[in-house]
Amino acid sequence: MHLPSKHLNSILVKPAGPDCNMVCTYCFYLKKANLFPDARIHRMTEVILEETIRQVMTQSGERVSFGWQGGEPTLMGLPFFENVVEFQKRYGHGQSTGNGLQTNGILIDKNWTKFLRDYKFLVGLSIDGPEHIHNRYRFMRNGQGSWSRVIDRAKLLLDADVAVNALTVVNNYSVRFPQEIYDFHKNLGLKYMQFIPCVELEPKDPTQAAPFSAPSKEYGKFLCKLFDLWLADFINNKPTTSVRFFDSVFFHYVDMEPPECTLLPACGVYVVVEYNGDVYSCDFFVEPEWKLGNIMEGNLTEMLNSDLQYSFGLMKATLPTVCKNCRWLRYCLGGCTKNRTRNPQEGSINKFCKSYKMFFEHADSSLRDLAQKWRRQQILEEQKAISQYTEERRIKVGRNEPCPCGSGLKFKKCCSK
Ligand code: SF4
Ligand code: SF4
Repeated sequence: MHLPSKHLNSILVKPAGPDCNMVCTYCFYLKKANLFPDARIHRMTEVILEETIRQVMTQSGERVSFGWQGGEPTLMGLPFFENVVEFQKRYGHGQSTGNGLQTNGILIDKNWTKFLRDYKFLVGLSIDGPEHIHNRYRFMRNGQGSWSRVIDRAKLLLDADVAVNALTVVNNYSVRFPQEIYDFHKNLGLKYMQFIPCVELEPKDPTQAAPFSAPSKEYGKFLCKLFDLWLADFINNKPTTSVRFFDSVFFHYVDMEPPECTLLPACGVYVVVEYNGDVYSCDFFVEPEWKLGNIMEGNLTEMLNSDLQYSFGLMKATLPTVCKNCRWLRYCLGGCTKNRTRNPQEGSINKFCKSYKMFFEHADSSLRDLAQKWRRQQILEEQKAISQYTEERRIKVGRNEPCPCGSGLKFKKCCSK
């Protein structure tokens, strides 16, 4: 089968590997240290960083985005990120370059906020909501809850005008509090929100989901309530908060490609670079089976287009029968492959299938309505732009010349009437 070649326009880098200054109960990445048994501490060298950025900047097109994740990427210290922007400048060819930093916030101080604002980093701050929710599973290494520190850092970031997106894990406890979490984020000034449903397999019994995983039905109710809250905050048909899942689903309703890989037909659109330069298929599949190569020995675009990465992508594209026959497939696309492989009960069906069905039943007519209004608005704006253009040209166009509106008629027979 001939598959179109993919462009390298998005990459995720884990400069401190799985190392973190916190120990959250539900974290799936801490145990990745087992992949690198020869090193106790994992830090990307300047040589690997430079080669990663050189490859990305020389191989990407007009736009490129870097996601800096972990573990905890701020463990690398600010000078590492000063090198990041320096190398991006050195190897770039004028393309628009975005940086996103996913952090627990603990190490953020005024030097960081100045840097993040000056270089327009988008910060994804891990924060699960009010104290009783956040401290349920998000612990410092000494066992204390991390909430008060994270709140301080959130305020520091927002006061410094850094763009912040709340990254909120929805687990078996927090799933009961959609309104409390939404209002909490909003009142803190976090208008951009991303909710990630938690599911891991129980290590001692992989036929069961780990107890902190969000149950599917409850997560469905969570999404429905959240949707109502998001919708209630619209002013003049425009949202005043951003909930990433709703924003992304909306793309499908207006026949555009959503930015989120979970809503695309196949995976494999980006790659992950670990601290030692190893390259993997996806953040959730940093596993020996899905290792594509090493940055010091191979070419990133070739790895992105390798047979292994295509077969990874096909896991999502190969849908179970229930999805093929589902009326919501066009919007849901079967969801994230991770949530299909970590579903102990139902083979390759998404663990949150029930949640998505509940959500689409609930939100479909409102989303259609919003899409219709959006399309009308687009037409109005286009018409306005044309008449403004025509008005500006009116005095410059001769009566017998073609009309600038593009109708093909003479100006005197068209817009000059
Ligand atoms: S497994 Fe999930 S997160 Fe990874 S590329 Fe596929 S849809 Fe995206
Ligand atoms: S709602 Fe369920 S069955 Fe339908 S496409 Fe999504 S995961 Fe598949």
